[in-house]
Amino acid sequence: MEVDLSTRRGLARAITKVESRRTDHQAEARALLSSVMSNTGKSQRIGITGVPGVGKSTFIDAFGTMLTELGYRVAVLAVDPTSQRSGGSILGDKTRMARLSVDEKAFVRPSPAGDTLGGVARKTRESLLMCEAAGYDVILVETVGVGQSETVVANMVDFFLVLMLPNAGDDLQGIKKGVLEVADLIAVNKADIDERAAKRAQRHYQNALHILEPVDPAWSPPVVTCAGATGEGLKELWETIELHKKKTEESGSRDKRRAEQQITWMNELIQDGLMAAFRAHPNVVAKLSELKHAVETGQLPASAAAEQLLQAFGVEGF
Ligand code: GDP
Repeated sequence: MEVDLSTRRGLARAITKVESRRTDHQAEARALLSSVMSNTGKSQRIGITGVPGVGKSTFIDAFGTMLTELGYRVAVLAVDPTSQRSGGSILGDKTRMARLSVDEKAFVRPSPAGDTLGGVARKTRESLLMCEAAGYDVILVETVGVGQSETVVANMVDFFLVLMLPNAGDDLQGIKKGVLEVADLIAVNKADIDERAAKRAQRHYQNALHILEPVDPAWSPPVVTCAGATGEGLKELWETIELHKKKTEESGSRDKRRAEQQITWMNELIQDGLMAAFRAHPNVVAKLSELKHAVETGQLPASAAAEQLLQAFGVEGF
């Protein structure tokens, strides 16, 4: 495939191949990815999450623009498992980031469509590598936090940023515990509205984080306040991300995290591939609906049905 990753148009075309459901496109994308692999791995990969309305697009627009002004090239990707092929997606829409989407040094891509979170995540991981090969220095991966999407995005980045609303600090019930566990930094956003409320929320999240054992001994996740709309706190936030990079590079945990992510990704691909091969196997297809019915109606234990299906697929000894 003739794809020139040095232009935004070329990168967009490469990502379109990654996202395509056509097997020939997927093969082209895989071949391209293999050929550019040595040019990947150099960017700062940052995940960003927060509930709808927390200010993600405003934040990314301002933060990304600040970074391009500092001379960095910035790519924005999104993981939204609810996005559909038609009708567009909620996240990553170019119109949501007015300045960044027309910035020569930025590349903004909406979430790929997909039925499953795993499918969307796989495409986003590959697109992230394409962006790196294209020379982007900072990749922002946005997610709205549907289901397990925070964990999935945290698993493809070096730094995971959680945006919170100032008034939500009083109600820790509202936060998914898993989100705090994967956060490298919590930023109480929209601090310009009510500075005192933002500080209160900051203390709340600091207390909540204290209870948790830091995942990485080299890094205790801080809690800061900021405002995407005014730009307040964004410079300091970037400095914190740079400090995290320095510390985790020194301790070796950055490389370790990336290596673990690659292995997790490989295992997921194997699982996906096995599952697809299993479902498509003629002997399995021949038996599946009958055995499912038998399990649903209680005529056959699930274990026996699974064993028969695995045997039909050619797996013995389970
Ligand atoms: P998203 O759904 O998380 O992407 O949130 P948006 O960026 O679309 O912001 C939701 C609303 O909050 C919009 O009306 C924004 O103008 C507003 N908003 C976003 N960031 C800030 C901020 O830092 N301060 C204030 N006061 N309003 C903000």
